[in-house]
Amino acid sequence: MSGTIEAIADDVETDMKVGDPVVVESEMACGHCPACKAGNYNDCEVMGFIGVNGWGGELSEHIVVDARRVYPIGDIPLDQAAMIEPFAVGYHAIRLVDVQPGQTALVGGAGPIGLLLGVILKAKGLKVIMSEISQARKDKALDSHVADVVIDPTKDDLLERVKEETDGKGADVAFDSVGAESVMHQLLSALKAQGHLIIVALHVRPVTMNLTKEMGFGEKFMGGSMGYANDHADAIKLIQDRHIDLSTFITDRIKVEDIVEKGFRPLHEDAEHHIKILVEM
Ligand SMILES: [Zn+2]
Repeated sequence: MSGTIEAIADDVETDMKVGDPVVVESEMACGHCPACKAGNYNDCEVMGFIGVNGWGGELSEHIVVDARRVYPIGDIPLDQAAMIEPFAVGYHAIRLVDVQPGQTALVGGAGPIGLLLGVILKAKGLKVIMSEISQARKDKALDSHVADVVIDPTKDDLLERVKEETDGKGADVAFDSVGAESVMHQLLSALKAQGHLIIVALHVRPVTMNLTKEMGFGEKFMGGSMGYANDHADAIKLIQDRHIDLSTFITDRIKVEDIVEKGFRPLHEDAEHHIKILVEM
């Protein structure tokens, strides 16, 4: 969520002022479990999200939040700033692996998180290959210059195409933003030896895999990423430094009274044509 500071409690020490445009981290963390104490509050034992687990919601005209979770956005427009939260999800996932300019990243899925992963990976100097089957999402990935190459794994052999694009080596790093078992297997197979796969997607079903065949041979690494922690400030700086225009990912702007018909319904029934629907309060 993005918004403007309306008031600051007397006992809060901050450089921010009333009227400043800001974004808020939506995560709720306990602050005293081992992960929180280590600074990894996205791994909190009782982690929740504002609006899902309590503390009011983001569809409110006013909300009270902890000042530690508020970040100034400078001259980033408020509408684009609403994208900083999913942007930070991608930023965190990429920070878990040591990506370098000139490497090739393979992103499974050109949905909202996949596209934002592509934006960040491109900004960090990587070649981005996306795997996607929806024509609308393929078009978006190419039209927005988020992907250098888009491969449809139902039409082409993903492994062979990635090898062609990487001089036979395979992708240095891969990100799963789909959450389907078949995609996870494909991404692992297209990784180079000792490459890393980061699972950003929410998998709702258990998966079956041959650990020796898929990870032992080639010494591949797989890990998960959840939310963000200490990422917003750097993510905002990257957007500002690289003049990243997030407006291309806003696919509609609606009033709160239209949220079911023009918000939830299209996201449910026509997901492939939507990335972020902004609700103005
Ligand atoms: Zn905690």
